This record gives sequence, C-alpha cells and structure tokens, in this order.
Amino acid sequence: MKPSAFDYHAPGTATDAVALIAGLGDEAKFIAGGQSLMPMLNLRLAVFDHLVDLRKLAELRGIERRGDAVWIGAGTTHSTVGRSTELATAVPLLSRATPLIGHFQIRNRGTLGGSIAHGDGAAEYPAVALALDAEIEALSPRGSRTIPASEFFTGMWTTDLEADELLTGVSFPTWNGRSGFAIEEFARRAGDFALAGAAIAIRLDAASTLDRCAITLFGVAPTPVRVTAVESELLGRTIREIDADEIGRRALDSLDTVSDDLHGPAAYRRRVGATITARAWRRAVDEATAARE
Ligand code: FAD
Repeated sequence: MKPSAFDYHAPGTATDAVALIAGLGDEAKFIAGGQSLMPMLNLRLAVFDHLVDLRKLAELRGIERRGDAVWIGAGTTHSTVGRSTELATAVPLLSRATPLIGHFQIRNRGTLGGSIAHGDGAAEYPAVALALDAEIEALSPRGSRTIPASEFFTGMWTTDLEADELLTGVSFPTWNGRSGFAIEEFARRAGDFALAGAAIAIRLDAASTLDRCAITLFGVAPTPVRVTAVESELLGRTIREIDADEIGRRALDSLDTVSDDLHGPAAYRRRVGATITARAWRRAVDEATAARE
C-alpha cells in the first residue's frame, strides 16, 4: 500500500515547526521516525495533506542530566537511548525497556518522543514514563508546558497533546538508595508488541522495608496502567513478607477490564499478565536487596 499524496515540510527549528503546523490545521501531522505513522499512512488508516518532518530539529536530540532527573530530547532514537551509559545507571528501566521494542531497524529510526506521543497501550516507553513519574514537555504557539505522565495517556493512541503541540522532551526522575528495576513482557514473537507486560521500580530502606514502589502494566489496556491500589498496600511492608505471585494476581485483579482481541482474550491476558508481573517483581527485589545503601 502507498499513502495518499501529501506535501512534505522540514522546518529547521522547533518554533518554526509549531508555527507551521498551527497554520496548516487538522490536515497536518508531525512525523519523527515514521515507524508508527508511516504504516498507518500506508494502510490509509490515517490520511494527512501535510507532513511536518522533525528530523532537522537538532534541539530535540540529546540526553542531559538535569538535577535529579535525566532529560531526553523527543527526537532521540530508541537506539541512542539503548546505548547510553548515562541512562544505564541513572534510568535503568528505560535502558532495559529498549531492546524489547520491535527490531533494531525500528529502534534505529523510531524516537522516544514519537513513542510517547503515539501513546500505544502496549508500548514500553509510555509504561516506563508512567512508572517513573516522568514529565513530558510540549511546545505550541501558546508557549511551553509540562505534563505529568500520569495525566498524559488518555486513551488508545490518544494523549493530552493538542494537535499543534510538539513534544520536545521527557524528564525521567532518577532514583537513589537501594532500588531495583525490572521490565518483563510476553509477546507472540520477538519484536512484536507485548500481549502483557509489567514495568516495576521499588526502593528499600535499611530495614528492607518497601519505601517506594511503582507497578505499571502495559499491553493489557488501551493505556499503560499504574496499579496504585496494590502499590499502596505494599508500602511499609518488609520485602520478605511479600509474595510475588500474590502481587501478580492482585495487580491484574485490580483492573476492571482487560483488553480482549484476537491476539489474546482478556482471561488469557490476565493469567499471562499476573505471571509476568510476578516475574518482574522478583527481578526488581533481587536487584534492590543486592544493592548497597
Ligand atoms: P512516528 O511514527 O513518526 O510518529 C508517531 C506519532 O507520534 C504520530 O502521530 C506523530 O505525529 C507523533 N509524533 C512523533 N514525534 C512527535 C513529537 N515530537 N511531538 C508531537 N507528536 C509527535 N513500539 C514499541 O513501543 N514496542 C514494540 O514492540 C514495537 N514494535 C514495533 C514493530 C514494528 C514492526 C513497527 C513498524 C513498529 C514498532 N513499534 C514498537 C513502534 C516504534 O517504537 C515507533 O518508533 C514509535 O512508536 C513511534 O516513534 P516514531 O519516532 O517512529 O514516530
């Protein structure tokens, strides 16, 4: 399949890009790596008269330590994220998520900002952003604003971004202390989107009591989901008292509805999701208990 005809634009600055898209209106769309948008255009699931390419925007690329967070430019590719030694130590969950995304060709072209802006409920980076309380920066002709990840993902392929807003970067808070991070998923084939996945971050105090906890499920609902009720029950408990399988079951039971499609019925996703969550929990606990204060 081929996309319908469109006019191609490649502005040189973020300010020009937002001015351009604001002027073109609903018939225009930003394109970054094209790894989600191009298949949709080719299949004619989406039709736009204008594409505004972000590839010339050098200001959208980079990885920078900013206080207690690491800022990643929206145009930074998945491959660059995966290779970053800074991120491997400062935001390990993001590094560990990267090899799970598609195939290396997709990771070479796809961008962190594109993945977050696309907002697929089965995608890894949105789940990590939610688990770590990331902050998402957007620029429009009205100025810039910061959106907490908890308010950003509003539905399947739908986010809080306005049509004329450019996602410029994402800040991921770093965790200190005895922390453990794990991301696990199940997909039918390597490189496929997850049928069920879990991204978990925990921190222990000196007495091995859980003092920070984030459990995010993906692939099981239209958006990534934080199971905050389960997190609250766990906080303050000694890590030895907590049963991983019970967490897996509780996490999936806490969801009223679970995605149900030809790739995986809801009941199957609940079972697989519970197993995957328990597996991620064990790995996060192993890392946190081995870590020094
Ligand atoms: P594009 O495709 O260019 O854009 C996607 C959407 O985001 C468009 O609506 C576009 O307008 C918007 N957008 C892009 N950048 C911005 C911006 N800076 N500001 C505002 N809006 C913006 N992803 C996974 O997470 N996990 C997988 O397992 C996975 N498997 C894949 C397998 C295949 C075969 C393919 C083709 C893709 C797969 N992907 C997967 C998707 C891939 O990660 C994409 O790269 C990513 O979802 C979108 O990034 P992009 O830069 O390619 O964005």
